[in-house]
Amino acid sequence: MTKILPWHQEPWERLQRSRRQKRLPHALLLAGAEGLGKLAFARRLGRSVLCEQTDEKGDACGHCRQCLLLQAGSHPDLRMVTPDEDSSVIRIDAIRDLVSGNTLSVGEGSHRVFIIEPAHAMGQGAANALLKTLEEPIPGTLMLLVTSSPDRLPVTIRSRCQLLRFTPPEENMAWAWLQESGLSPGDAREALKLAAGAPLLARKLAADGALQQRQALREDFLSLARGQASPVSVAEAWLKQEELDALLLFLSSWIMEAIRGKLVQREGKGASLLQSRHEWVDLKELYRLLDSLNDTRRASANNLNAQLALESILLEWSRITRG
Ligand SMILES: [Zn+2]
Repeated sequence: MTKILPWHQEPWERLQRSRRQKRLPHALLLAGAEGLGKLAFARRLGRSVLCEQTDEKGDACGHCRQCLLLQAGSHPDLRMVTPDEDSSVIRIDAIRDLVSGNTLSVGEGSHRVFIIEPAHAMGQGAANALLKTLEEPIPGTLMLLVTSSPDRLPVTIRSRCQLLRFTPPEENMAWAWLQESGLSPGDAREALKLAAGAPLLARKLAADGALQQRQALREDFLSLARGQASPVSVAEAWLKQEELDALLLFLSSWIMEAIRGKLVQREGKGASLLQSRHEWVDLKELYRLLDSLNDTRRASANNLNAQLALESILLEWSRITRG
């Protein structure tokens, strides 16, 4: 019933041992980049905790009363809190609702699972409302906080959760999994590069046609380095085709490629994103550009002026490469 992601196996087995020994923590912080399946893991664990008769791997059986309620999406003891549709913030009332006595008394079995996703969407008020429950855990309740930005959660919250960190799987594992999902070996490699190793994000990017589009934009990027295009007009043209977040992702993968190319060049192995006449491009400048790009990516959740942000990165790129 559950599609198992191979890179989840180790943490899954570890938590299942704790579950069998009745030593699961009362709160887990599932942290890691987008595209690693953190939420799927949380749901799978939630089903496992609620099921009356798990299988040998610890997965929900799929046919006990609890499982039937879960499949109908109406299990009162698996609660999911997310931001409202038109908002990026988890309301304080949603958290109060969750931890209040009312919702805690309708339980079917002896366990309850709360999933908060993304946990960093809780404002100060919501976080405070949750904190009380983390300080005095409700017996039988498992809190699963899912986030790609754990540093945006108050320390008081983080310190009361056991950290479960998700990192990109070993490249060959991810590559094999993407091919099982129907990607060609070449596309799987490209998509993984673009997604910084996160397999689910890689699969999504490939499905969205991002690989073909990236190729076209890459030509513009190289034109800038040759002084054959203007940063301002390239930025404008790109933003007509794509969201800023995706463009920043592309840019980051190319700058990393340029950096890798420089490192390889140093070892005398040739092949680079930049042509040989760019050999003098300063590696430090490339690192600095990557840093400011990452700053922009972090800031892009706030109301950033996309055109200005993109222009400034492209200007810097063309300055570095033109000397
Ligand atoms: Zn079951």
